[in-house]
Amino acid sequence: MEVEQASTLVVKEAIPTLEDAGDETVPDRWIDVQFAWGGKPFSLSIAESDRWPSLGRVFDLKTALHDLTKVPAERQKILGLVKGKLPPDQALVLVPAQPPTSSLAPGKKFTLVGTPEGDEIKDPSQLENLPDVINDLDVDFTENIAASNRYQHDIRNIRKVKEMTAKLSVNIITPLRPGKKLLVLDIDYTILDTKPLTSGSLPPRECARPYLHEFLEALYPFYDICIWSQTSWIWLETKLVELGMVGSDKNYHISFVLDKTCMFQVFGERDGKPWQHSVKALRIIWNHFPQFNASNTVHIDDLSRNFALNPNEGIKIHAFKNAHTEEARADRELVKLTQYLLHVANVPDFRTITHKGWKDVVKALPRT
Ligand SMILES: [Mg+2]
Repeated sequence: MEVEQASTLVVKEAIPTLEDAGDETVPDRWIDVQFAWGGKPFSLSIAESDRWPSLGRVFDLKTALHDLTKVPAERQKILGLVKGKLPPDQALVLVPAQPPTSSLAPGKKFTLVGTPEGDEIKDPSQLENLPDVINDLDVDFTENIAASNRYQHDIRNIRKVKEMTAKLSVNIITPLRPGKKLLVLDIDYTILDTKPLTSGSLPPRECARPYLHEFLEALYPFYDICIWSQTSWIWLETKLVELGMVGSDKNYHISFVLDKTCMFQVFGERDGKPWQHSVKALRIIWNHFPQFNASNTVHIDDLSRNFALNPNEGIKIHAFKNAHTEEARADRELVKLTQYLLHVANVPDFRTITHKGWKDVVKALPRT
């Protein structure tokens, strides 16, 4: 396969199966692709290998175009790559065509049309509309280990973890302490009702989930705290300050914070149809901090799908919403979670237990 054939692309709609999952030692090859944008020539590299599912996807192409041009995927018009409409994000980009198909214009470069994003800050009230932040469609991967295994062995996902690891520069806010476990904590709808905070309809302290600070204070002697949120850094920082989790006098400290740039999309199936969603791959953290691993890390989130690559380390809790209501003020999810995480704090290896029945464990605890 020669690189000079690279401008021949085939886009194939296919969903990888477990049997297709390859060996992570197969190296990726990179193909240079030419395109024009705004009347100027550009080139980019997309990953390719002999076997799928490690092949690049349309989604990866759009992501690469975004990185290069700052034209958001939803605004990209890709012309001349295939006849007709561009296939969906999960479609594979095969390079080169074997054999070339009539849907292609072999050797032809493609054209990108689209306006790049400006430097403006996204309106925070729009945050709630991000499809992955709201609890719309969720899948419990602890009940579908085959699907999780498929994700974990997908060469593309393995590559994404490596790329994210290399790209990430962790800013340590409070030094990590020897011998502590790691608590990875989501923000939106896990510890915060995001909607009234971003709209300003409630004061920040009334948007916080009840017992938030008590929860973190109780666990801090045993766990270092990482906040991982699918939002951009600026809003993440704002939320933490408004909630009083940083820059205030509390008996706990946040060790480090990860934002949406450390998440990536995975491609699978839901109800027999192609489905893509973002994940928080703990391996990215573990690669940076080898003292943490599956034996001592727990990840709290209101969306199970965020655990797709780490179902055993995840604890899903009820989404916290409608913070203004009496029902929400009576929410005790974090009290129960405190009891559970204190109960297991001295378990030497989390791989020897399952968190799935955590609420039953709490119910069985002696009343204090
Ligand atoms: Mg959330």
